[in-house]
Amino acid sequence: MTSTADQPEITMKSLKAADPRWCTGCGDYTILVGLRKFMVNYQLKPEETINVSGIGCSGRIPHYMNTYGFHGVHGRAVPLALGSVLANSNFNIFIHSGDGDSLSIGGNHLLHGIHKNFNCVYLLFDNEIYGLTKNQSSPTTRQGLSTMTQPRGTALEPINPVRFALGAGASFVASTAEWMPKHMLDTIEAAFNHKGFALVHIAQRCPKFNPTSWNHKTSDWVSFIEHENGIQADLKAAPDATKMTHDPSDLSKAFEVSEGVPDRFGLFYQAEKITYDELIRNQIKDTKQLSKDDILSPFKI
Ligand code: SF4
Repeated sequence: MTSTADQPEITMKSLKAADPRWCTGCGDYTILVGLRKFMVNYQLKPEETINVSGIGCSGRIPHYMNTYGFHGVHGRAVPLALGSVLANSNFNIFIHSGDGDSLSIGGNHLLHGIHKNFNCVYLLFDNEIYGLTKNQSSPTTRQGLSTMTQPRGTALEPINPVRFALGAGASFVASTAEWMPKHMLDTIEAAFNHKGFALVHIAQRCPKFNPTSWNHKTSDWVSFIEHENGIQADLKAAPDATKMTHDPSDLSKAFEVSEGVPDRFGLFYQAEKITYDELIRNQIKDTKQLSKDDILSPFKI
């Protein structure tokens, strides 16, 4: 990914596009502001940045960023982003996808995006509910929560998004929360600087349909993992949180500490791995260019 050079200054204002339309108090606002702040800090050029999304409240982000954008269909942000990367690997790619979009209809695409390890930052907005369609249980809804589709209480245990990504072979897996702005910015920065598919799970408040899931007013339930090669705890945002050390190069330990998700935040795993875009470009580089006649000759009669 590229950062800036001598271009007009990128500001919070210059990154604004359409006016956001989310419910009052929605955590999507802080993620939007965090992403703009990150682009300002790194002076990322809008003309070299693409925001891609699927369907859901998070899917609106491309409309609100003054960059290239693609609001795709449900669960299909990954193939759209992959197409962009294969066409031009110089773009900064941010994928925005909710818990339903990522882990239900888009689960297959997320699995293969992780497997391909193409270069992007994947922001998984986890409000633990289908919000846009008004209160249905999602793959991460906590067991027992009464929703419109499961009024007697959500029957299944939630999917653990961090474990899913680790199991799929992700080269970067982190978790943060949108009400911890420094931790979220540090996490986005680490993901951006990672070569490959960087999955960032973001705990996101949905005061409209799931006000009980993330209690941002207390922090005694928060557990940070930190390490000199990881992301540092944010005790300003979560003063009563606990901390533990975890080396993000240790995959089996990453599985162990991911047991604490959704209450555990930090960098779970990071490894160097070749990206799909590199592999494909290497193949193309080594492929002999054929003329039109070469291509058509096997079909001559
Ligand atoms: Fe945000 Fe929930 Fe409203 Fe969607 S339904 S905009 S996630 S508060």
